[in-house]
Amino acid sequence: MSLRMSSLFLRTLRDDPADAEVPSHKLLVRAGYVRRVAPGIYSWLPLGKMVLENVAKVVREEMNRMGGQEVLFPALLPREYYEPTGRWTEYGDTLFRLQDRKGVDYLLGPTHEELFTDMVKGEYSSYKDYPVVLYQIQTKYRDEARPRAGILRGREFLMKDSYSFDLDDDGLKHSYERHRDAYIRIFDRLGIDYKIVFAQSGAMGGSASEEFLAPTPTGEDTFVACRSCGYAANAEAVVTPAPAAVSGETPAQRVMDTPGTPTIDSLVSYVNEHHGLSITAADTLKNVVVKVSTPGSDKTETLIIGVPGDREVDFKRLEASLAPGEPAIFEAADFANHPGLVRGYIGPQILRELGIRYLVDPRVVTGTSWVTGANEPGKHAANVVAGRDFTPDGTIEAAEVRAGDACPRCGSELSIDRGIEIGHIFQLGRKYADAAGLDALGPDGKPIRITMGSYGVGVSRAVAVIAEQAHDPLGLVWPREVAPADVHIVGTGKDNQIEAALELGAELESRGLRVLVDDRAQVSPGVKFKDAELLGLPTIVVVGRGLSQGVVELRDRVSGEKSEIPLAEAADRIMAATRA
Ligand code: ATP
Ligand code: MG
Repeated sequence: MSLRMSSLFLRTLRDDPADAEVPSHKLLVRAGYVRRVAPGIYSWLPLGKMVLENVAKVVREEMNRMGGQEVLFPALLPREYYEPTGRWTEYGDTLFRLQDRKGVDYLLGPTHEELFTDMVKGEYSSYKDYPVVLYQIQTKYRDEARPRAGILRGREFLMKDSYSFDLDDDGLKHSYERHRDAYIRIFDRLGIDYKIVFAQSGAMGGSASEEFLAPTPTGEDTFVACRSCGYAANAEAVVTPAPAAVSGETPAQRVMDTPGTPTIDSLVSYVNEHHGLSITAADTLKNVVVKVSTPGSDKTETLIIGVPGDREVDFKRLEASLAPGEPAIFEAADFANHPGLVRGYIGPQILRELGIRYLVDPRVVTGTSWVTGANEPGKHAANVVAGRDFTPDGTIEAAEVRAGDACPRCGSELSIDRGIEIGHIFQLGRKYADAAGLDALGPDGKPIRITMGSYGVGVSRAVAVIAEQAHDPLGLVWPREVAPADVHIVGTGKDNQIEAALELGAELESRGLRVLVDDRAQVSPGVKFKDAELLGLPTIVVVGRGLSQGVVELRDRVSGEKSEIPLAEAADRIMAATRA
């Protein structure tokens, strides 16, 4: 039976929810698809549940097509599985931990590598068993630091996670490529505009990990793209091309009085005016202090990051570089505990002495000369040379990436955009197989260590991403594949219009369409049209005043095109419209 607005469990809202900032969040709440229970925790109402199921169906079909076999794991998991891999602690505050009545530790699964590995180990033993791809569509739990934008970043969310198990590296590459192809099909079918970007620096072979990002201004991920060579990468994975070391004589360090210059801008104008220099911010070396904690340990390390003064430290890049270490801002109280660090005037010249680790941007190569802090209030130093006046403990990718930066592959200019991660494919290698001792018995009787891949799709997040990309000022505009129904029939007027609308609905349904009929008696046509636009079904049919002349109106929600069609042809014409 078709859905009827008169009895459908749905109340649309006229106003945006107060806590919503992004369009998808506003619209999914206003249109009655989801309701908030707590930060990052949402319930799905009937229409929302249908969209979620439709997305899951596409994912399931494509995973089955590529040879994946569906399983289902519990979300409630004992700690012991996550101990050998270190993730019980490494996951830090993001892991939901709890205890049962006996005081035994449990967690709510944030991702299931350990469990899949263990399952395969339990069932398979011979090389003849491999390869295998297993997946599930299951609820995940992460105590996100910043749950956000409704279902976009939830603390409970639906994910498709799959895992490939292969005997060798070529097998893994093949499984990875098959997943990549499946993801392309999935996101194409879902009507999502996306970009595939490197998620990891080239160190691991370039294609070891890629993300599918949906470009949207509200996205939390930043990615770069090169129009010349096609390189695209998450900003977290961008490798800064290091210039060649500089040789030649630089005059000795010169300490300068620079009162009241704690910022780079104030420093640059002061030294240019008072010390006869002509430098820009890029000639200064900015030293940013952070404290880094390691999940599971009480110790924090004080770390200083040196970047050219015209760039900020990008905290997400810093976090990615230090993971699983977690950097935090160095507060006034921390400075009080480190009298050697003069806030606003820190230079790397004394860090060895202070025993503080110093990591620099790759542009800070041996022989480069900088204006930087002199470790005394109101003083800076010029001609501070890397390799002569200080020696970094290493380099770090932490400086912000900017539009116009050189492409690490071809040197052309990079563009920069924001996006939302909808999928992630990852060649894990043997980390989890090592932890679990997952081997296959080879043809020669010797054990072969299995190599794995892990692959995720944010199923609930995809609903939000589609809404984010497919809406207009009036409401949602679902792609047909995920829409809660194909046709929204609006019956208006007092006479037999509603009856006719229900009849047309029944006819379309008998021909295989999914139909929603607005059969509400006491609701004005204006409200019904508004609701139809807000709910976003791809085809709207109005059975109204025209009925007395034997016509109904067909509206395309995407193009906004309207046409009058004879009632007698309506079913055929609507069928044709929904197949277009
Ligand atoms: P993010 O960088 O956005 O936190 P992640 O790198 O932690 O994501 P993965 O561990 O790769 O994500 O998870 C696989 C997929 O699950 C992601 O590509 C994303 O689509 C989805 N996902 C991850 N975290 C969330 C969340 N908090 N809410 C909804 N979907 C999520
Ligand atoms: Mg990821």
